[in-house]
Amino acid sequence: MKNFKYIYGPVPSRRIGNSLGISPIPEKTCNYSCVYCQLGRTDHLTNKREEFFPLEEILSELKEYNVFEHDIDVVTIVGEGEPTLYSRLGELITGIKEITKKPVAVITNGALLYDAEVRKELMNADMVLPSIDAYNEKIYKKIDRPYGKLNFETISKGLIDFSKEYKGQLYVEIMLVDGFNSSDEDIESFKEYLNKIDYDKLYINTCVRPPAESHIKPASHDRIAYAVNKLDGISIDMLASGSFYSGIENTYDAVLSISSRHPLSKFELKSFLSSRDMSEKEVDSMIAELRVDERVTAINYGGIETFRARKHKRGN
Ligand code: SF4
Repeated sequence: MKNFKYIYGPVPSRRIGNSLGISPIPEKTCNYSCVYCQLGRTDHLTNKREEFFPLEEILSELKEYNVFEHDIDVVTIVGEGEPTLYSRLGELITGIKEITKKPVAVITNGALLYDAEVRKELMNADMVLPSIDAYNEKIYKKIDRPYGKLNFETISKGLIDFSKEYKGQLYVEIMLVDGFNSSDEDIESFKEYLNKIDYDKLYINTCVRPPAESHIKPASHDRIAYAVNKLDGISIDMLASGSFYSGIENTYDAVLSISSRHPLSKFELKSFLSSRDMSEKEVDSMIAELRVDERVTAINYGGIETFRARKHKRGN
């Protein structure tokens, strides 16, 4: 099968099921450089919306992929950065809906929701999943390290306004980071903030994959349980569920492609490799190869070896 440039997966998402990803922006193009980002530090920090890739090219790839032939629950616009920076996002959503009846989700950091045009473009999506890392300016700047003059007052007003206007499913997610936003007082403040937002579900997450900054630690199970209880949220399990899939025939290339967007723990990697009928010996040998491949970073995070391909270019 063809090695697609903009489409990847399906990836098992713990929030929305089997998700076919569409990435309309170049690697690590974002208006934040979150300390916990699993893709590393942001290379291209920008708040300028652009048509990074031609819309027609993305849609024609989706047509070629033929969603009907695959086991997919949802088509998700996500990326190796912030998808609302794609200037033709509204047309992209409409275009996807002309190709498939599957619901369309957008995963976003929510920063651009202050822009009425972005809010309007998102109205046609079936699900929008914005993240919330802070309830005040100080924590916002410390965790998200936003572009230029982006500030908490502006972005929080954008999210609150959007939540009142939007008719689809709004799933917000709080990312708890140990020592940054996970104390009892923090949770209490999140509660007050959440009261202003009209959302359908709240997910509580923590950084289970290697973060951009090595000193960042995940919140403990106890903290997560406390937040889930106090905020009436849903905990995202510490371990990924389901298994990964790639249409790329060459297994090594498939691993590079998946791990460039979704770092793979050794367990996830092994489960993917065994789905390709590899023997234990072949799995060990591929893991050894990944460890010395200069395109791959092997990180020991929380005692689990995790592989992230940083410079693999899609379509190569
Ligand atoms: S976590 Fe998301 S919003 Fe934050 S830097 Fe990474 S891609 Fe951007």
